[in-house]
Amino acid sequence: MPLDEYRRKRDFTKSPEPAGNPAAAPRGEARYFCVQKHLASHLHYDLRLEHGGVLLSWAVPKGPSLDWNDKRLAMQVEDHPLEYGSFEGVIPEGYGAGVVMLWDYGTWTPESPDVDAALRKGDFKFTLDGFKLKGSWALIRTKGYGDSGKPSWLLIKHKDHWSGPLDITEFAPLSVKTPGADLADILATDTPDLWTRNPPAKTGDTGKLFQRIIATARALKATPHADPPAAPAKRRRPRGATR
Ligand code: MN
Repeated sequence: MPLDEYRRKRDFTKSPEPAGNPAAAPRGEARYFCVQKHLASHLHYDLRLEHGGVLLSWAVPKGPSLDWNDKRLAMQVEDHPLEYGSFEGVIPEGYGAGVVMLWDYGTWTPESPDVDAALRKGDFKFTLDGFKLKGSWALIRTKGYGDSGKPSWLLIKHKDHWSGPLDITEFAPLSVKTPGADLADILATDTPDLWTRNPPAKTGDTGKLFQRIIATARALKATPHADPPAAPAKRRRPRGATR
């Protein structure tokens, strides 16, 4: 069954992630894609492409790059349910415990007619039309990475109108689902005190990032009515103007 591995890893009585329905049919011509920024034991970006009723998934530790010189390691992980594609929130414990931000989404189209053949060959080219990622991309399978046993690929941007020397993860770090939200804002909607004693990562840069986000989320939660988003300035009618 397509989602067996996905379900085996998770306890849906403890995680807000969807259990999924693999029978869900792809909706029309446009295939959905998304990238979720996932702060767990390490910060990474999960690229998901709709195909065959599920989301094919790759974990990209450094995230996508618009620079065609960059080859970003992308470890293929278990297929995810289509419903996962809009998920943003907090996974309190268990597999993938941490904060998930919907960092980009949109549609994708394959650049060769037979997607399964391209995946088998390990040379998969596709076009993205998201808010942040656009244009032509490739996933090229490599000869394995360490002893993880997971198929590893390289995610590469083709040179086109949408490529360039821009670190898109730095330039556009926020959610596309909750405008203006960063990881701390997403945690603040849930239970910021959750990991006070036992965060999903305790050491290194990821441990520090968790400490910072937990502290920020707690401060946000403590002052829920402070600093509402700035309202657009009221436009004043020029003196003497008539309707
Ligand atoms: Mn992940």
